[in-house]
Amino acid sequence: MCYLFANGLLPLFFEGFMIETLGLIHGALQLPAFLPDGTQGVVRAIDAQDLLHCQVQAVQMNAYHLMQRPGSSTIQALGGLHQMSAWQRPIFTDSGGFQVYSLIRQNPKFGSISERGAIFQPSGSGRKYKLTPEKSVQLQMSYGSDVVICLDDCTHVDDAYEEQQVSVGRTVKWARRCKEEYLRQVEGRGLIVGQRPLLVAVVQGGNDPDLRRVCADELLGIGFDGYGYGGWPLDGQGNLLVDMLALTRELIPSRFTLHALGVGHPANVLACARMGYELFDSTMPTRDARNGRLYTFTQDPLQSRLNGENWFSFLYPSDNKHIKQAGPISTYCDCSVCRNYSLGYLHHLLKINDHLFPRLATIHNLRFMTQLMANLRRVG
Ligand SMILES: [Zn+2]
Repeated sequence: MCYLFANGLLPLFFEGFMIETLGLIHGALQLPAFLPDGTQGVVRAIDAQDLLHCQVQAVQMNAYHLMQRPGSSTIQALGGLHQMSAWQRPIFTDSGGFQVYSLIRQNPKFGSISERGAIFQPSGSGRKYKLTPEKSVQLQMSYGSDVVICLDDCTHVDDAYEEQQVSVGRTVKWARRCKEEYLRQVEGRGLIVGQRPLLVAVVQGGNDPDLRRVCADELLGIGFDGYGYGGWPLDGQGNLLVDMLALTRELIPSRFTLHALGVGHPANVLACARMGYELFDSTMPTRDARNGRLYTFTQDPLQSRLNGENWFSFLYPSDNKHIKQAGPISTYCDCSVCRNYSLGYLHHLLKINDHLFPRLATIHNLRFMTQLMANLRRVG
């Protein structure tokens, strides 16, 4: 089922397959799509050409990090996020609600959250920052974002019911203020249909089904272009919160995209995509690459329906067994690294700590993620 608006969901036939697409200012995304996180305006170690080569369709940046470095006035002086990073395809921007929450949870001295918004001073920073729902929308729209995400009040899944309840109430109030500010910005900037970014709200409620339901209902009542699953998607033991993720998908009508925010482990992406989630973003595949953990398919992703737990494996190029390995990282991968370099050479680059390693490793892991998305689009 698809909902068509000028920028929004549209079914398209592509190479004989019916593929759902999401129309945005800087182009259409085929769904499901994985967005690498370029939180500070860069997907670390690689550039826009590398991203295109990996068949990445969009990246996700972060208002919280960008407002600190390089700062909004610098981003505007450099022509906005697209021009600054030479990335001409869609950019999603996260509000920073999760980052503010994580910072203050780590140490309450770093800031505070109230009805008005958040005030924070990261460790080592001589400056205090204020983030309100209005400011978050203003920043994201001034950056030239394709998808603006509402500021939300995040919780940990283990937090008490009362805290989850406060979070839901605040998230809904902030989402309403975000929508009001968004409409002011659209009008003030004279954006016509097709020029405006999409506005996405985040469903909170921790692991409580009633709170998730209340949050989803309230947000649907205000009305947004799409929705996201907010809060930690994992329990204290690191297991995916399958029931809560599935419930939230049921609560949001299928004509709206649902973004599994922060979900990037391949097994969790697959599980969420099968529930009907269409958008994913995470630092995990790129961080793992830089740290020497590579992803490989154990079966041909062009042909097979990926099932069970063994359809992919982790590969550690630092292992001594790879020293003289003349073959590629993966025979199922068509990235430039697997076509041109041996696993033994990757081992060598890692051992001498050469800067080429993180770039090549990142290219490979991102191509793995885009191959996974292509598999889900074609095979399901
Ligand atoms: Zn590869």
